[in-house]
This record gives sequence, structure tokens and C-alpha cells, in this order.
Amino acid sequence: MIEDNRNLTEDRPTFVTHLECSMTGERYEADRLHNLSAAGKPLLVRYDLDGVKGALTKAKLADRPMDLWRWRELLPVRRTENIVSLGEIATPLIELPTLASTHGATGSLIVKDEGRLPTGSFKARGLVMAVAMAKELGITHMAMPTNGNAGAALSAYASHCGIKTTIFCPADTPETNISEMALQGADVYRVNGLIDDCGKIVGAGKETVGWFDTSTLKEPYRIEGKKTMGLELAEQLGWELPDVIFYPTGGGTGLIGMWKAFAELEAIGFIGTKRPRMVAVQATGCAPMVKAYEDGVEHAPRWENAATIASGIRVPQAVGDFLILRAVRESGGFAIAVDDDAIQAGLDEVAGKEGFLLCPEGAATYAAWQTSLKDGRIQPTDRSVLFNCAIGLKYPLPKIEKSLDRHGQIDWAQFRR
Ligand SMILES: *Cc1c(COP(=O)(O)O)cnc(C)c1O
Repeated sequence: MIEDNRNLTEDRPTFVTHLECSMTGERYEADRLHNLSAAGKPLLVRYDLDGVKGALTKAKLADRPMDLWRWRELLPVRRTENIVSLGEIATPLIELPTLASTHGATGSLIVKDEGRLPTGSFKARGLVMAVAMAKELGITHMAMPTNGNAGAALSAYASHCGIKTTIFCPADTPETNISEMALQGADVYRVNGLIDDCGKIVGAGKETVGWFDTSTLKEPYRIEGKKTMGLELAEQLGWELPDVIFYPTGGGTGLIGMWKAFAELEAIGFIGTKRPRMVAVQATGCAPMVKAYEDGVEHAPRWENAATIASGIRVPQAVGDFLILRAVRESGGFAIAVDDDAIQAGLDEVAGKEGFLLCPEGAATYAAWQTSLKDGRIQPTDRSVLFNCAIGLKYPLPKIEKSLDRHGQIDWAQFRR
């Protein structure tokens, strides 16, 4: 149980009006099972924002516990009893002052540390919402392709409320992820392919097995959970959004979700028109969004032979590609790729100099920040926010070989070096 769950028991009005195809604008009824729209595109949840404006004030919000459910008026769950919770705290903003000044930045360099969430990654935000809605809509079996963290979050929340899960992941998914999924009750399979190959199995089994397809953006509620990153960030920064956001982009749920959150916050009068520049960060070994951004196109073809140590962003093809690219372009941001050496160097530097062990995807945003600062794509005065999307401890760590023989002669001088 989370310490203060007042907000989970207090009934509040909900404001969902309908769902909408993100491509054609076609309307779909709320409170029903949906995957993609008829056009094969993601569905977005729409709210009566005037109603929210009348119901929610900054002062009211300030009285609530600092967690994800404080945003209830902007979330899709209708009935409080359907909320599934493992303690979704608001994640802290951590400044990296040493590295900011080392690299000549005068504006602050801030990490939003999503590794503090249940199951150690921000996938908890999306999946807590998807599972709560699944519960609300009577789903009993959910299936998912995953690079690890999403499956971990799905298995945790689904098991917490008695929903069965079947999960498919690439064979080289980090061991920790595979073990945690299995321990948390999932039926998990390693597949000799990438995440989109796993996705095809989930799609193909829908009719025969009867499971619900919980793939990224193929169900409409994960994005609503991920959007709370944007809501939370705005509130934490005193309703003044940062200049730049660096986001490690795989399926793009978080980037698209935050962009949606900012629009909703403006509509309810909580922020003005200022928006951060949204930067989509990818690895050079899998950079479909960067290529599409540079080519000036709206859709990104599949990236062949995708490979990177940042497994969470090894997504060769994203169904929400045009939504990612739209947010990046509308915001005046850009898409940038960094290679695995730069990711590892960034991880080492932030851990060694700031004592903050990032996940590889988080380290990619740091490497991208450094590159962008150097090549002038961002200014030294910019206030930048990096997303560390998972706890660094979930990933393979280097083996440390130093040891000491307590019976032998100790060379005390070594400790002074
Ligand atoms: C899933 C994941 C990402 C990518 O997030 P999207 O919103 O799907 O683009 C980045 N980092 C980590 C650690 C992840 O697990």
C-alpha cells in the first residue's frame, strides 16, 4: 500500500468524452475495448477540458498526494475501484550541476529520474493505466511484445489484479527483465527476432487465443499514463516548462504523451503557450525517427538490423511515427542519434562525476545533450531536462575484479592514489 491513498478512495468526476483517430480525427465511443482505429492508427483519448477547467484548480491539486493519481480528472479511469496501484510516486528532478558547468552550460541540466517508479521504469506509468482500463473493461488476458521494461510493468500490474499475461521478447532482452516478468506471474517467451517480430505473434494470436493486444500505441490508454510525465514536470517546475526536453525514443509513447499533456494543460489554463523543444534521441544502430526527421518525411520505414546497448529504444518501426515527428517539428525540436560508445561514455561520466547511475537510454539523452550543446543546436543558457527512464541497476553492469587478501601484506599507499 502506498502511504497516503486518500486520492484513490475519493471519488471524482471523470471527463472522458470519446476517443479519436490520431490520423483522420474519426470519433470512437469511450468505455469500450479498442485497439487501432479503422485507419490502422493510434487512438487518442479526448476529454471535456472545459469541465476539467471548472473542476480542477492548482490549489486543489497542491492538496493531493504527490503521485500519478493526483491527475485523475485528466485520466481515463472512471471508477476508483478499478485503479490498480503499486505506488506510482511523482519522480524527482535531479540537477547535474558539475557536468553542466564542465560542459559550459549556464542553464540548468536536470534529470527526471523515472527509475524510482514501480518495476524500476517509466513503463509503470503507461501500464498502470492500461491495466486499470483493462480491468474496467473486463479483459482477463493481456499479451505484449516487449524489450523488457514494458513487460515487467505489465506483468506486475496485471498479476496485482488477477489478469493473465503472455509476453514475447527478443532473445537477447536483459536477463533481469526476463526474470522479473516470470516472477511477477507472466508466461514469458524469448523469440529469435526483434520487438516488431514479437508484435506479429501477438497480433496473429488475437483471434485464436483471445488475448488483448497491449502493444505500444495499439491500445489507447498507455499514452494517457505516460502523459503524466508532462503534467508532473510542469507542476514541479512551477508551471514553467523547460527550454528543451531530451527523450529516448522507441515507440515514442512518452514524447507523444507529454506533447498531448502540454496542450491539455494550456486548455485548462494551467500553462501558457510556451513549449519546450522536444528532442527525440535514438541510437545510431536504430534511428528510424532521426532518418525520417532528416529526410523531411512523415512516416519512418523499418530500420533493418537494429542494434544498440540501449535495448529500450531498439524499436525498428513505430506505429506512432508520424505523431513523434509532428511533436518534434511543431515544437521546433529535432531528432538526434548517438552511438553506443557515446552512450557508454555518458553513462560512465554521469555515474563517476555525479554519482548517478543512469540506464543506457538515459545515458543516450545525456550524450545527445552534450553533442547538441557542442554543435549549437541548443544554447548554453537553455534549461534542459533529460529523461532517465529506468533504474541503471536493471542492466548488465561491468564486473569489478579488484580484491584484497586480508592475510597478506597490504599496500596502504594504493588507497591514497
Ligand atoms: C520503453 C523505453 C524507452 C522508450 O520509450 P517510448 O516512450 O516507448 O519511446 C526508453 N527507455 C527505456 C528504459 C524504456 O524502457
